[in-house]
Amino acid sequence: MKLLSSAVLLFLVLGSALAYKSYSGYQVLKTAPLTAAAMPYVSRMSQRFDFWGTPGVGRPATVMVSPEEAPVVVAAFNRMRVSHEVLVADLGPQVETQRAEREALKVSSPRKPRTASYDRFMEFVEIDAHIHETADGNPAIASVLDLGFSYGGLEFHGLKLSNGQPGQKAVWFDCAIHAREWLSTPVCLRIIDEVVANPALRDLADWYILPVANPDGYDYSFTDDRFWRKTRRPTADANCPGTDPNRNFDFLWDAGNPTDYCSEVYPGTGAFSEPEVAAMGNFILDIADNLVLYVAVHSYGEMILYPYGHTVEPVPNVDQLIAAGTGTASADAIAAVAGTAYTVENSASGLYFTYGASDDFAYGRGAVEFAYTFELSAGGSGGFDPPASQIQPVVDEVWPGMLALVEYVLAN
Ligand SMILES: [Zn+2]
Repeated sequence: MKLLSSAVLLFLVLGSALAYKSYSGYQVLKTAPLTAAAMPYVSRMSQRFDFWGTPGVGRPATVMVSPEEAPVVVAAFNRMRVSHEVLVADLGPQVETQRAEREALKVSSPRKPRTASYDRFMEFVEIDAHIHETADGNPAIASVLDLGFSYGGLEFHGLKLSNGQPGQKAVWFDCAIHAREWLSTPVCLRIIDEVVANPALRDLADWYILPVANPDGYDYSFTDDRFWRKTRRPTADANCPGTDPNRNFDFLWDAGNPTDYCSEVYPGTGAFSEPEVAAMGNFILDIADNLVLYVAVHSYGEMILYPYGHTVEPVPNVDQLIAAGTGTASADAIAAVAGTAYTVENSASGLYFTYGASDDFAYGRGAVEFAYTFELSAGGSGGFDPPASQIQPVVDEVWPGMLALVEYVLAN
């Protein structure tokens, strides 16, 4: 019997290891800073290949390529005269090492009740438990936001933190709408910690925080595929499930998104086709009258992006958006911690245009006066696989930036 259960255990361990996508032979290529002339081509390429971060004029682009894709992408770069180098020659070992580290940390550093972990990346079930424990332990100020079920059947939740003053202005933060951008979630957890501990912050505003906006994808990136970005709902192409949730919001959804199911930025079959996106979007519209600040936390790029993503035409309150993002406010507060320089830019300023993104939706549909996408610092191989040791320094520098932003917005 004992022998049998050992055999079953071994099978399960091997089975789960085999199920995890191998990135053996995958490369990460990094270009020189892109010129305006190259940008239309790179934009088109980014609909087909997996560009990391936000490509843009004046910025280097990084793209992850499979062994089959590598020669195609290299040839395209050469045709466009975009010089490039191999940043990571083989992603496979890195993915496996980090996975082993993660499993070990889960054992050596188990989650403590009502305590967020910053020494390792928490899994979806742990985060959801943390949300409920935080609400249960602080019933006077915390309530669980019930966002319903994901496509895959995960019930997902946010948290509202409030002193209960009627008519209070509100601020919103969401993290991990792109599944693999793990570094974003601890930023949301840190905001929860700070606001729970500090009544003065709740006097400023009601806080709405959604630590995992794409539960199926986030979970899948832990169990099956480190670099999964999209949702998990199937498309008409069985080989290419999933929709980019940050192209699925009901704002200019059909103004220019790709129709290729396999694209990493495939926007879905219609605005709000993804249940997770519809739930979040409709919730934001429900509270939009009081909402003065919307922040989506992504990684990476060290950028604070403001609307719109589809045009470089300035929006009416562009000066205020920039002032809140920079000046004495957010970017300066971040830089004051460890010198990391976030740039404050219009989402489309790099000539990389987006449609159906959450910040544009909050701003354009919800009329939320201040809306931003934060792209955090890069990590690991220059992208989405930061080691767990990077969590603490990133949250330590980003929290003052978030606080400065909230203070600025509520004072103006
Ligand atoms: Zn993202």
